[in-house]
Amino acid sequence: MEIRNLTRRYGDLTVVDDVSLTVMPGQVTCLLGPSGCGKSTTLRMIAGVEMQDAGAIYTDGQLICDTVFRIPPERRHIGLMFQDFALFPHLTVAQNVAFGLSTGKAEQRARVEELLARVDMLRHIDDYPHGLSGGEQQRVALARALAPRPRVMLMDEPFSGLDNRLRDEIRDQTLAVLKAEDAAVLLVTHEPEEAMRMADEIALMRGGKIVQQGAPYNIYNAPRDRDAVAFFSDIN
Ligand code: ATP
Ligand code: MG
Repeated sequence: MEIRNLTRRYGDLTVVDDVSLTVMPGQVTCLLGPSGCGKSTTLRMIAGVEMQDAGAIYTDGQLICDTVFRIPPERRHIGLMFQDFALFPHLTVAQNVAFGLSTGKAEQRARVEELLARVDMLRHIDDYPHGLSGGEQQRVALARALAPRPRVMLMDEPFSGLDNRLRDEIRDQTLAVLKAEDAAVLLVTHEPEEAMRMADEIALMRGGKIVQQGAPYNIYNAPRDRDAVAFFSDIN
């Protein structure tokens, strides 16, 4: 996926300011920055639920939107996973994961089982969401988002609702599943530790702009300025 010069204004305030970013298939890029810096707004424009004032977005070299042309959200082959993106309570785990699939019944079942096995939830295939723990629901949500084989996966603070004990394990498992699916992943977080753990590439965002970008190790070792140092200082 390629984002070119993406800009979004609310009145006088430019909340996303000329952001350009490339995310390769099989790679996780973390958009890392403090509250209010424009992370979610960026994801919403890529998802297609909000329109940019300038700039363009491409997936697999194909234009999905600029300021005049626009492919609707449901035809963008983009998977979404947000903290409060709940499972459908009246559907079983299997039905939740199959929800976005349009293929034949047998093929659908095979895909659902494949993904549930990967997130280690096969034994809950016929259960309803209310009986599952937060971490288990999160794993089903991941399977659901990946079921239609999205080319791009957008994740906005997907682990923030989980308790600390679970979080590392689910991060690692999520990463393994994402890698196996080969999607281009853009993961939003305000936690440096999460970015260090999951990212192939980190884009540091502040005040609507990407202020530094590179491999996690490089950014950690050579933060660009005092703000970046302060931001990373609470990792131990
Ligand atoms: P957080 O880490 O708290 O989720 P964020 O980086 O995701 O923050 P955004 O939600 O993208 O930040 O918001 C960026 C800025 O745009 C904020 O200052 C926010 O108040 C402002 N903003 C977001 N949506 C609107 C809106 N619909 N109208 C006006 N301002 C908005
Ligand atoms: Mg946000």
